[in-house]
Amino acid sequence: MKCPFCNPDGEALLYEDGLIKILLDSYPASKGHLLVVPRRHVESWEGLRDGEKLALLRGMELAMEKLREVLRPDAFNVGMNLGREAGQTVPHLHLHVIPRWNGDCRSPRGGVRKAVLDLEDENLNLKERWERNRLSGEEVEKLRAAFNRPLHAPEGET
Ligand SMILES: [Zn+2]
Repeated sequence: MKCPFCNPDGEALLYEDGLIKILLDSYPASKGHLLVVPRRHVESWEGLRDGEKLALLRGMELAMEKLREVLRPDAFNVGMNLGREAGQTVPHLHLHVIPRWNGDCRSPRGGVRKAVLDLEDENLNLKERWERNRLSGEEVEKLRAAFNRPLHAPEGET
């Protein structure tokens, strides 16, 4: 299958430079939903070079600037689906820039956090949601250790 981001429809292509392209999303979540993609066919974040990562952020800024200029949105959701389980369907990394307007949905609260909400979750109160999704103490400690930030400094450190 031809990659839709390596070979975008000419009409969808809004911007390109040496490192990135900015495209219209084919199935927009809102009016003006854009995609910022690395020019190189890279599937995962880890596959990007540092310069490409920076270029994606610059592309996000550029996309927001032009959308503000043209469509005057009130706000944005920005996000990436990294991996199939997270909803990535095109195996060419892309960053979504989704303009938002006052009143465009009944309850904007949660924003990109709604990525994992289903109808059942929506009926959970905050405490129930916390109980369902919280990490165990051990998991938190492992995560802290991975970041090298133990809650209790090892002996000898202050
Ligand atoms: Zn591609």
